[in-house]
Amino acid sequence: MSKQSIDLLISARWVIPVVPEQKTLENAAIAIDKGKILAIIEDGEPLDIYSPSEHRVLDQHIVIPGLVNAHGHTAMSLLRGFADDFPLQTWLEEHIWPAEGRWVSADFVRDGSQLAMAEMLRSGTTCFSDMYFFPEETAKAAQEAGMRCQLNTPILDFPTAWGEHADDYIDKGLALHKTYTDSELVSIGLGPHAPYTVSDAPLQRIAQLSAELNIPVQIHLHETADEVAAALKQNAIRPSERLEKLGLFSERLQCVHMTQIDDSDLARLRHSGAHVIHCPESNLKLASGFCPVKQLQDAGINVALGTDGAASNNDLDLLGEMRTASLLAKGVSGDASALNAHQALKMATLNGAKAMGLDKTIGSLEVGKAADITAISLDTLEANPLFNPISYIAYSQCSHQVSHVWVNGKLLLNNRVLQTLNETSLRNSAQQWAQRIQH
Ligand SMILES: [Zn+2]
Repeated sequence: MSKQSIDLLISARWVIPVVPEQKTLENAAIAIDKGKILAIIEDGEPLDIYSPSEHRVLDQHIVIPGLVNAHGHTAMSLLRGFADDFPLQTWLEEHIWPAEGRWVSADFVRDGSQLAMAEMLRSGTTCFSDMYFFPEETAKAAQEAGMRCQLNTPILDFPTAWGEHADDYIDKGLALHKTYTDSELVSIGLGPHAPYTVSDAPLQRIAQLSAELNIPVQIHLHETADEVAAALKQNAIRPSERLEKLGLFSERLQCVHMTQIDDSDLARLRHSGAHVIHCPESNLKLASGFCPVKQLQDAGINVALGTDGAASNNDLDLLGEMRTASLLAKGVSGDASALNAHQALKMATLNGAKAMGLDKTIGSLEVGKAADITAISLDTLEANPLFNPISYIAYSQCSHQVSHVWVNGKLLLNNRVLQTLNETSLRNSAQQWAQRIQH
């Protein structure tokens, strides 16, 4: 029998495919061809039916689906540590918005996005969601780096360096959506910043466009108790109810944060199929509140995981975020079984893909899906003993052990060395920006 020629065969000590649930394969392999997963080969099944161009043996590694960071502002990596220890509105209005007004440009966004992508790749993320100005620069940078992303083009009532008014932002977003319609790596969503920064008419237009063109919508929603209280005072209804009335609640809506949830919100999320993007470290750092993850999951609502921007986290490490999410869910619910290790991994992979509408392509290691894959090396003292690989990934802070990353079968990180981004030039450009911003 002739052997089947394929591009890549990855043999690994452990493979955690995420689907089926709770499954860990030992001494397994993944056959990859033309960027897609062709087969998952379990221990004992024949490998010699394949003739791979490359056979990568990772015999001290755990292999998982590439992580999906479902919310962030990549270019804000250049503002990491710029303003710490403030509550949300003070942080935004007195520090971040003025700095952005002064510094944000196409160059800032290109350099910041590249810096963020390097950090994400080195901590196992293969796909990120973004909401930031000059998304055309982030799109170009992601394509050059070979990373997958969904860019939610920002929409605000007021002018910034990227737009004049809400309709101008929307038109720019639609143009970008058209440009990237057939892109394998880049998809475009609409990103109205928050209910308090976008008025009814543009929100309604966004809802109509989302339905007509099947475009995802991402919005910061119920980030703090103050946001909900101010809206109740102003409109006499909760922000979520206002968005529902304007037609925004659907399975295309991604609600970021949701620290404030009452029974009506729960019903709204459940009936519409909208998604919640949980950003626990940003919520903790800005003292924004706690998203009741267990309650949402028990109600069957899809909860994905995001780091938020590096200016409010202050890292883009999704493995660390999984650990925080899991510990916080246990603490908040008073239930040590809340958000177990497998659920945390699923939240950081398949649930993120589902929220972005990309779950047919990514989020698990299944035949036919894209070969977006992360390997974690266990060749370190701290990885011993190892009873349960999923537990190790979720609870043991192992992002520095991420060794290899592939997107669409293309190697982007090789033994911790970036293949498509230049670490030295990223360090230089970040330092140059810091010097300019400081003076
Ligand atoms: Zn955010």
